[in-house]
Amino acid sequence: MCCCGCGRPPPSDVAHSNASIHGKGMAIKSKDEFTIPLNRICHQNLDQNLSRQTRQQQLDWFIEKLESTNETLKRLEDAAIQNYPESF
Ligand SMILES: [Zn+2]
Repeated sequence: MCCCGCGRPPPSDVAHSNASIHGKGMAIKSKDEFTIPLNRICHQNLDQNLSRQTRQQQLDWFIEKLESTNETLKRLEDAAIQNYPESF
């Protein structure tokens, strides 16, 4: 998938949420359901907070990107079911 931070084409990393409400803790990654595609630059920006956002701004941004990622995944899944129904 394209980077949902800047829109650049793949490759993208699987970036985990850094929010405790998504399961992030000391030396513990958040749950895989709270991941978004980010390229290296945007992933580094997220994890090191290079844009100096507040925790709330970071959380709001991540949730917005998570929702759009989930919508994209749902569209891809629906298209796959339509094109290859025998695989499901
Ligand atoms: Zn990016």
